[in-house]
Amino acid sequence: MAVIDMPARTRVAILGCTGSIGTQALDVCRQHADRLEVVALSAHSRTEDLVHFAREYGARHVAVTSEGHCGDAVLSELPATCSLHTGPRAAEELAELEDVDVVLVAIVGAAGLSASHAVLKSGKRLALANKESLVVGGDLLMPMVQPGQMLPVDSEHGAIFQCLLGEDAREAHCIWLTCSGGPFYGRTLQELADVTRCDALAHPTWNMGAKITIDSATLMNKGLERIEAMHLIGMDIDRINVLIQRESKIHSMVEFEDGSVLAHLGASDMRIPIQYAFSYPERWSTPAPRVDFRQIAQLTFGAPDMESFRCLKLAEIAGKQGGTLPCVLNAANEVAVDAFLHDACTFTGIADVVESCMDAHDSQSVESFEQLADVDTWARERARGIISSRF
Ligand code: NAD
Ligand code: MG
Repeated sequence: MAVIDMPARTRVAILGCTGSIGTQALDVCRQHADRLEVVALSAHSRTEDLVHFAREYGARHVAVTSEGHCGDAVLSELPATCSLHTGPRAAEELAELEDVDVVLVAIVGAAGLSASHAVLKSGKRLALANKESLVVGGDLLMPMVQPGQMLPVDSEHGAIFQCLLGEDAREAHCIWLTCSGGPFYGRTLQELADVTRCDALAHPTWNMGAKITIDSATLMNKGLERIEAMHLIGMDIDRINVLIQRESKIHSMVEFEDGSVLAHLGASDMRIPIQYAFSYPERWSTPAPRVDFRQIAQLTFGAPDMESFRCLKLAEIAGKQGGTLPCVLNAANEVAVDAFLHDACTFTGIADVVESCMDAHDSQSVESFEQLADVDTWARERARGIISSRF
């Protein structure tokens, strides 16, 4: 696979630097300060953290994307040498900077799509954590990707990418996309009805932002990841099998035509795939503790329960149908998850909201980013209407 040329010290932009992925990426940059230089940082609203990181890492450019926080007093504490970009396009502006080599898009939700688009357009390496970019806009983004330009950060997709290195992806028979099962593994639909926000925020193996933690509890996360994998590998969703792997030690597997199966194993630590997206094709010393496999008593496997975890089924329907339906699935889910986090929607209500929006949508083939923005707005309004009338 071709590699985009990198200077001795790679100049990094981290979009969404105050989140779970963003702060772990900063830790990777700290541990490999001789190879990585933090040049640009964006945050939506946590300007105090943004200023702190900008000073600590000597960033030359920062961006604040939430209109409500563009005038925060703390921004006056930025070093005089640091340029400040503000407003909804500010993250894209960082993606377009001349003095940046790789951009990590660690923004949450469909809000990351325009930044991912800007990175690809500028020809820089895209380290992609924001799976929603591909779920919503994969049809438009994938044809823009040059060989070796997009490095998936999502641990499963990073694993698949590595299992396919040196292989012909057309000889892959299927993908085993692993899933911890989340905090409610084994529960029936009835048992999920009274799940609370606190229950759902306690993930057994990964420590993540609130939205993806809820998506991991409903299994929507795995549904979104199947669509993400579909775009990345160019494979039908039917051949991307979800496999419960309770210990989260196998990050995914590729099964080839000859029956051989390659798996990627390692610690459940996002700093490893983040670092690889920066270091590829090199491998640098690990940013996380190593796994002693002698201490792991067993690796357990299972099939997901699509009847109880209805979001997984809905994502399968959206992935199969394609077009603008995954955009509706994603937007409705973002609104419903936010409502659940604010006690305005029940846990099982999330799937109800998503399903109602999908049922009401006439899917079209994806033609433009403007069309996707319109569909996204429609689905969000519809989801909000359903939530305010039902819950
Ligand atoms: P998070 O909520 O912890 O952080 C989100 C970041 O995005 C913050 O820095 C925030 O300032 C910024 N942001 C929020 N809304 C924004 C908007 N409208 N415009 C611009 N920036 C905005 O989220 P996270 O858990 O770090 O996840 C980030 C992305 O990475 C998601 O797409 C998630 O699916 C993906 N991902 C996360 C993990 C994980 O372990 N956390 C693993 C795999 C993939
Ligand atoms: Mg993942």
